[in-house]
Amino acid sequence: MTKRFSPGSAALDDVSLDVAAGEVVVLLGLSGSGKSTLLRHLDGLHRASSGTVRVLGTDVGSAKPGELRRLRRRVGFVFQQFHLVGSLTVLENVCTGALGRLRGPRLGLPSYPRQLRREALEHLDRVGLSDQALQRADTLSGGQQQRAAVARALMQHPEILLADEPVASLDPESSTQVMQLIKDISEERRLTVVCSLHQVDLALSWGDRVVGLRAGEVVLDMPVKGLDRDEVMSVYSRVGADAGAVLAGTA
Ligand code: ADP
Ligand code: MG
Repeated sequence: MTKRFSPGSAALDDVSLDVAAGEVVVLLGLSGSGKSTLLRHLDGLHRASSGTVRVLGTDVGSAKPGELRRLRRRVGFVFQQFHLVGSLTVLENVCTGALGRLRGPRLGLPSYPRQLRREALEHLDRVGLSDQALQRADTLSGGQQQRAAVARALMQHPEILLADEPVASLDPESSTQVMQLIKDISEERRLTVVCSLHQVDLALSWGDRVVGLRAGEVVLDMPVKGLDRDEVMSVYSRVGADAGAVLAGTA
C-alpha cells in the first residue's frame, strides 16, 4: 500500500507486509520514517491512497463506519504519551478500555458493572499496579502510567496490540520493564503485537521480527533470531547516513 497525505512524496511508499497471528513485530525507524502512519492504518484511522490494508479479515479501505468500529474494538493501541485521564483514578482509566463493549456513556467508577471493575483490578494486578488502583492517574510515574495504559488496552480483549513508541518518554529501566511486560502478555494471550521503536538494541532484545522503515519504505524485514546488531547496523548504513543517530539512540 501507499499513503500520500499530499501530492508528491509518499509517507508510506509501496509497503508490503504480512503479519501472522501471534507474531511480535518491531517497526524500527527514524522519526518521520512512517511508523505511526503505518500503525494508524492497522487501526483503521487512515485509509491507504492505493493498495489494500486488511486487518483481522476486514478490508480497512472499503469498511463501513460500523465495521471499522467493530475492528477497532479488537485492536488495542498503546501510545507514547499514555493518554490517560489524569484527574481520574487509575482503576477508572482502565475501566474505560471496556467502553467499546458497553452501551452508552459512563460517568464515575460506580457506573461500571461490578464484574468489569473486578476485571480491571485483575489487569492492574497483572501489570503490578494493584496498590495504585485508587490513585489519580496523574500521580503515577511515566512507567506506571504506561503499564496502566497496557491494562486499559487489555480491557478490550484485543486480538492485536499496536504500540507506537511506547517507551520513548521513559527512562531505560522503565523502558525495559514496559517492553518485558508487553512481551510477556503477548505470549500469555497469544496476542499479535506490532510495536514501533527507534532504539536498535531494544528491538533486537525484544521482537520476533524487525521491520525497518526509512522514508516510508521497508528497508529491512528479518526475524530477530540470528540477527545481530552489526547486521542491522550495516543495513541501516547502506540506506543512509542518519543511521548513526538511530544506532546511537539519539534519533
Ligand atoms: P514516524 O512515526 O516514523 O515518526 P510518521 O508516520 O509520523 O513517522 O510520519 C511519516 C511522514 O508522514 C512524515 O513525513 C510526516 O510528516 C507525514 N505525516 C504523518 N501524518 C500526517 C498527517 N496527518 N498529515 C500530513 N502528513 C503527515
Ligand atoms: Mg511516530
